[in-house]
Amino acid sequence: MDALRSRPRMPVRHFLGRIRSGALSASNRRELPLDGSEPMVSFTFDDFPQSALHVGGAILKSYGACGTFYAAMGLMDQVNDLGRQFCAEDLQSLLRDGHELGSHTFGHLSCRRSSLRGFEGDVWKGKQAVERVAGADRPHQFSYPYGHVTFRAKPRVGAGMSSCRGIVPGVNESPVDLNLLRANSLYSRSWDLEGIHTLLERNEQCRGWLIFYTHDVADSPSPFGCTPGEFEAVVRLAVERRARVLPIGQVLLNTH
Ligand SMILES: [Zn+2]
Repeated sequence: MDALRSRPRMPVRHFLGRIRSGALSASNRRELPLDGSEPMVSFTFDDFPQSALHVGGAILKSYGACGTFYAAMGLMDQVNDLGRQFCAEDLQSLLRDGHELGSHTFGHLSCRRSSLRGFEGDVWKGKQAVERVAGADRPHQFSYPYGHVTFRAKPRVGAGMSSCRGIVPGVNESPVDLNLLRANSLYSRSWDLEGIHTLLERNEQCRGWLIFYTHDVADSPSPFGCTPGEFEAVVRLAVERRARVLPIGQVLLNTH
């Protein structure tokens, strides 16, 4: 009784958010069975700041792995609280290095703060801008800015993308939902190595697909990034545990 009484209460907003995430994950699914032969891990970056590629991408390469970078093309050459954003040359070197370029709307729009029409317009504009760089004939991956998804946007955006990634945490267990892939943050401010171990273990047990996301990778990261040491520790763990570390599109190719 006392233990129950002393347990901190989950704030109502947080509780409602979890119910909403659960309902969103359950609705309008586009399911893909995994082949189940081995656990897979993907490292992804949103927006993306230059340090994501220059530091995070370089760490992945040093382990013989590649990542997926979701660019909001309207952020090119800008400087914001995540640091300097990617430039045109970064996009070329990213592709040369074998990483994957996906989109993240053009203007970094939240689908909860704009009309469905306005959001969709920006989604397709962002996709086309990425296709002009990466080619229109390849699979296209998308991630929702701020992780904001709505019941109406999910099926409409999902229908035009190879996959859509949000920020609903957990392991993607077979059959995965291509309209809303689960992903887990790698943020210094909420660093939880034990939680990461648990996710990797769960991923091994179910031979699932574990996706991580972050933004900047810097010695003094923003609240939405992590340090090079933290990032490398997770990449090393995934490799040591014999998970296959692949960009999102590569997982989908291997699964078909
Ligand atoms: Zn973003």
